[in-house]
Amino acid sequence: MAKKAKVVLTDYVWDSLDVEKKMLGELAEFVALKTKTPNEFLPHIEDCDALLNTYAGPITADVMARMPVCKIIARYGIGVDTIDLEAATTAGIIVTNNPTYCIEEVVEHAMALLLACARKVVFYDRLVRAGNWDLTPGKPMFRLGGSTLGLIGFGHIGQQVAARAAAFDMRVLFFDPVVQANQSNLKAKKADLRELLKESDFVSLHPPLVSETRKMINDETLRQMKPTAYLVNCARGPIVDTDALVRALDARIIAGCALDTTDPEPLPNPHPLRGRDNVVITPHAAWYSERAMVGLQAGAPGEVRRVLSGQWPINVVNPRVKSNNRAGI
Ligand code: NAD
Repeated sequence: MAKKAKVVLTDYVWDSLDVEKKMLGELAEFVALKTKTPNEFLPHIEDCDALLNTYAGPITADVMARMPVCKIIARYGIGVDTIDLEAATTAGIIVTNNPTYCIEEVVEHAMALLLACARKVVFYDRLVRAGNWDLTPGKPMFRLGGSTLGLIGFGHIGQQVAARAAAFDMRVLFFDPVVQANQSNLKAKKADLRELLKESDFVSLHPPLVSETRKMINDETLRQMKPTAYLVNCARGPIVDTDALVRALDARIIAGCALDTTDPEPLPNPHPLRGRDNVVITPHAAWYSERAMVGLQAGAPGEVRRVLSGQWPINVVNPRVKSNNRAGI
């Protein structure tokens, strides 16, 4: 009898692995770990045919060199910034992600953070909990309708944030090197980065974390924002230079921020971003809902199942690997 394939799951944050076992059970030996770093999962992956990955990493060329028969690395989430895609392509390893399972959740979370900044919901709730029933400390407050939202990154999430913002009567600008001015049917104006930062009352970040976007929000770009503007980050923490953000808040260069993603993550306690009146932080929760979880859990094992059955997977993020992939598909 042919040897069963081996699938290793580096880490997971959900209660049950029934979905994985059901999808892969008859095809593969399934090894589920709860690791954070390569050193912890390396001893288990040397003979794996597929690697399922949530957050553990980074998955570098060195890590890949230790998995000579691995045919696919399937990420459960959207961002693949912790996987060296060039190295995977060179090694013939297919990399997949799950690009749409939580779009609506992140869009709604970005709107929630934007509204929390505009209407000072979190600020007032903290006051009321402390026994202070008073409108005055929240002043000044501004109307969302008629204000300008600048979206950096205008892909799946950015475009749907634009649609929600339009319903709030906001003017929307976007900066995206790939999406063209008339490519979407949304009422959003393409702008260059400087113009967007200068004109926006809210700047919301939705690009991938790549070398061009790492620390793109820094001392210089923060200084281009309005002193009354808020920054929202539901994308990836390192897109913002954390030290520069702290400096900008200290010097009142911007009015405040709301962050679902931070650098580092989690933020140590204490940290200069924690405990500020004009900062709202959620613990990388934008992606989560009960419905998104169903889509999340089925996606990556589905891709592994396809590859182990000789089918080309659906969401390949390094398509150039087609010509030399180890699975021979
Ligand atoms: P997407 O690939 O659909 O869109 C990203 C857009 O950013 C693309 O249109 C791309 O052209 C653009 N872009 C690329 N480089 C850019 C640059 N230098 N400046 C401006 N724009 C640039 O991705 P998406 O699904 O919309 O995801 C957006 C972000 O949200 C990613 O960083 C992803 O990791 C993050 N995300 C976060 C959570 C969470 O829980 N907080 C969940 C899912 C996704």
